[in-house]
Amino acid sequence: MAKQLRVLFVASEGVPFAKTGGLADVVGTLPDALKDLGVEVKVLMPYYGALKQGKISTATVAEDLEAPLPYPLNLAFDLMAPTSPDYPFYFVARDEFFERSQLYGTPKGDYFDNLERFAFFSAAVLPVCQALDFHPHVIHCHDWQSALAAVYLKNRWQGEPVLAGAKSLLTIHNLAYQGLFPQDRYHLLGLDWSLFCIDGLEYYGQINLLKGGIICADAINTVSPTYSLEIQTPELGYGLEGVLRHRAAVVSGILNGVDYAEWSPETDPLIPAHFSRKDLKGKAADKAALMEAFGLDRSRAQAPILAMISRLADQKGFDLVAQVLPQLMARDVMVVILGTGEEKYHRWLEKEAPKYPGKLGVKIAFNNQLAHLIEAGADMFLMPSRYEPCGLNQIYSMKYGTIPVGRATGGLVDTITPVNPKTGKGTGFLFEEYSPEAFLKALHTALADYENQKLWPKIMQNAMSQDFSWKVSARAYLDLYNRLI
Ligand code: ADP
Repeated sequence: MAKQLRVLFVASEGVPFAKTGGLADVVGTLPDALKDLGVEVKVLMPYYGALKQGKISTATVAEDLEAPLPYPLNLAFDLMAPTSPDYPFYFVARDEFFERSQLYGTPKGDYFDNLERFAFFSAAVLPVCQALDFHPHVIHCHDWQSALAAVYLKNRWQGEPVLAGAKSLLTIHNLAYQGLFPQDRYHLLGLDWSLFCIDGLEYYGQINLLKGGIICADAINTVSPTYSLEIQTPELGYGLEGVLRHRAAVVSGILNGVDYAEWSPETDPLIPAHFSRKDLKGKAADKAALMEAFGLDRSRAQAPILAMISRLADQKGFDLVAQVLPQLMARDVMVVILGTGEEKYHRWLEKEAPKYPGKLGVKIAFNNQLAHLIEAGADMFLMPSRYEPCGLNQIYSMKYGTIPVGRATGGLVDTITPVNPKTGKGTGFLFEEYSPEAFLKALHTALADYENQKLWPKIMQNAMSQDFSWKVSARAYLDLYNRLI
């Protein structure tokens, strides 16, 4: 019998415990898919304040473990875990670091001590494995917040019996967030100064945690094949394209899967009416509920709803949305936007909404229930992203027959097949150039096809038949782990 593979996920968020974006969906769902393939996965995450009030109860597993960092970060922490065996999570609990209202910062900026917080968290991997007597074959790090675990494994933990032979994988969910900190805090990390160099964690005089991970991890992957190539170019490499090209032999892309147990119009408990490919009736009821929730004008029910659910960040193409909005709103459409993020976009949306009463519905919030209602009730989903490592919303949208209009970048290329009106094939609309003209052209094409009562139902059928479940992607991760060890 093949030996059972043991993997430790080290991640700063994971559903259902903490989420700011797609990373959480992956960390919350990939472990289950791997378990189905016979892999033993444990997930290590910080114990955020919100977990204390959460619906899932937790209990202490071990007390007074110590982060193996130099003074003053050689601090004690407790290890917590959900009391239900359904979740393979463990939590690093140290309130001064993690009992905050947000995960990484407020709209005004990042928390001042993110270096301390996530160095502490990454260093906790060793004492946690010791306390649990868990000998992982692979330490699977996610983004800059846990990239240091790969650095520690290679440079500090080689002699540790519990980690003997362990390899590291770093998954980059978004290269733009790198964990940059001033060099005068380098001593906190417990790493030799020889690593603070161009072939190490140094980046134009600063500490770059993600770069450290890219250099030290045994393998690196991104969350779509297209993005894994794009990050090796100056356009989307965010200054790390050279380092990534240097490691190109171990860089790959694995498309994220999605959890259809959560995101299926047939069973979704968060939407008022269920529907399916064969029976679309419920979608009209969901559209009505969505219009109600966003204060849209009931008399417009025949017009399509174009929706966005997003972090309000430059990445997501809101500058393009701002530029096309007047022309778009001049048409017979309704637009719904749900998001939180940068304050400049909060202000902009609050200014725009009153200009189009009953036609533009905006909610500045992070609200999962509303996200489900939008996927179910809208007709099109807009993702004019500047770049998109994978993107989950276009995948969810397709399942709900909500047709994506996105920019041809990253995971959007790998998941959306452009509509061909002649053959009736295709699942959405893509535009190449990052410009308002190109975006508007795609919108006009999509709106024209929406009017075509023969074509649109076909597009909906095509989209709803897509299957991006974790099965395929989990198998790809398993192959990658096996190649590593
Ligand atoms: P990213 O990880 O770059 O933010 P993704 O499309 O990969 O983008 O994943 C975003 C996830 O976060 C999706 O599950 C989406 O529904 C969710 N999400 C984003 N913003 C909100 C919001 N304001 N309210 C509810 N869910 C949101």
